[in-house]
Amino acid sequence: MKSTGIVRRIDELGRVVLPIELRRTMNLEVRDPVEIFMEGDSIVLRKVESACLFCGGIRQLTEFRGKQICSDCLRQLKEK
Ligand SMILES: [Zn+2]
Repeated sequence: MKSTGIVRRIDELGRVVLPIELRRTMNLEVRDPVEIFMEGDSIVLRKVESACLFCGGIRQLTEFRGKQICSDCLRQLKEK
């Protein structure tokens, strides 16, 4: 793992701002989903390439007309 040398503080809501340089380097856009991993005593963020069109979820995705929909949103659509 490569250190960026950047230190950020967690706010009252548990949020951390990813520095703009890091977002540019990693090609992270606003509202992109990231998956959170634990690795020993580290937290690792990884960009999710495919996610639910509606909620950004990544579990149990189904493709419909080229878009991904998660099982929760799919169920809610069916109930309408
Ligand atoms: Zn969803």
